[in-house]
Amino acid sequence: MTQSPAISPHAGRTLTVRILIGMSLGILVGVVLNLIAPASHAPGEPPAVPDHWLHHWLTDGVFWLAGQAFLRLLQVIVIPLVLISLICGTAAMEDVVKVGRVGGKTLVLYLATTAMAITLAISLALLVKPGAGFPLVADVAFEAAPAPALREVLLDIVPANVFTAMAQGQMLPIIVFAIFFGLALTMAGEPGRRLLAVLQDANAVVLKLVWIVMLLAPYGVFALIARTFATQGFGAFAPLMRYFGLVLLTLAIHALVVYPLLLKTLAKLDPRRFLAKMREVQLFAFSTASSNATIPVTFRVVVDKLGVKSSIAAFSVPLGATVNMDGTAIMQGVATVFIAQVYGIELSAGQLLTVVLTATLASIGTAGVPAVGLIMLALVLQQAALPVAGVGLILGIDRILDMARTAVNVTGDCMVACVVARSENELDREVFDARGVD
Ligand code: ASP
Repeated sequence: MTQSPAISPHAGRTLTVRILIGMSLGILVGVVLNLIAPASHAPGEPPAVPDHWLHHWLTDGVFWLAGQAFLRLLQVIVIPLVLISLICGTAAMEDVVKVGRVGGKTLVLYLATTAMAITLAISLALLVKPGAGFPLVADVAFEAAPAPALREVLLDIVPANVFTAMAQGQMLPIIVFAIFFGLALTMAGEPGRRLLAVLQDANAVVLKLVWIVMLLAPYGVFALIARTFATQGFGAFAPLMRYFGLVLLTLAIHALVVYPLLLKTLAKLDPRRFLAKMREVQLFAFSTASSNATIPVTFRVVVDKLGVKSSIAAFSVPLGATVNMDGTAIMQGVATVFIAQVYGIELSAGQLLTVVLTATLASIGTAGVPAVGLIMLALVLQQAALPVAGVGLILGIDRILDMARTAVNVTGDCMVACVVARSENELDREVFDARGVD
């Protein structure tokens, strides 16, 4: 498959800088709007008094519309991109054994890094005690959805109707279908070769589509961030500062210490180069709070800047967006300990193990979309027999943490893609080591 066309290194750098400017301006405008025209009501509730006209027209008008339209443009590319690039990628591997090996390595690394992330989070939280002395408010409430049975989660990976899966954005059945289709293509002789040539052309066109949408990124990011900061209730932060700070600290340790160590030891790659090239993906994930919506950017950076062959990227990027959520696991680890401490519950070793296992497994079937981590947290608490209502304590400040943890989630996907590609000799060192494209 070809690299995405017409993206010069210079254009890449300019884009990252422009997105950064969009984000900074968004924070500035959002905070100012929050001061002069805050929302008169909580999200989802009807307004008690009419909103300030600026809030009505700008925050909930122009910014909402521009942000949502941009998210839709990203989402509309995700499914064709994943389907076509993965069919081409699997066909390029040409052999079932290799597909299985790459899949196995990727999955094991995804699950292992998630387990490491949550263990780190729990250990730090037990040390720092973010919930000690927190006043327990009697009226917090949160209802957990019933946990799906494991057999259903596993069965849902197998596609029954690929169009339903595509229409509903279910990534895992799409991945399974694309792999089977790609393998069948390689076995079908001449017709397979003809269809593959067409799909490769389609792939080039879809990548061009990604490039076009990217041109709008600075504006989309500005609108999303401005609205988030304009509607965020900053008053909720003060009592939760220790929880908030600890989640951010653990996310930083995982992204800036654990990933670099893994990259260095497992793949002998320069972590600084990796982190510098990750900026664009991280900014995007931060702004959208969705690993899924970030897939087009993640894919482009993994192939064009990190030098991973597209056959590996086409597999690891969508799979990672669904299965690998290290940042989310970190929030869940800290939140579990925090909630237990607030309720004065001593966590047993068995409960801690349940938390690690459920959080790691729960990440498999859940899509990378905003706030899904909270729903998973409710499941985790339920499994460990802890009060689910505790989720209500941290709801108010979760959006900003969601943005930060999504940035870590996608960083983990890219790190694993590099490690797997390197182990398969499918990483172009020249591209990875190239300067000036970050
Ligand atoms: N927003 C996260 C993601 O898309 C998931 C979460 O933690 O809520 O990766």
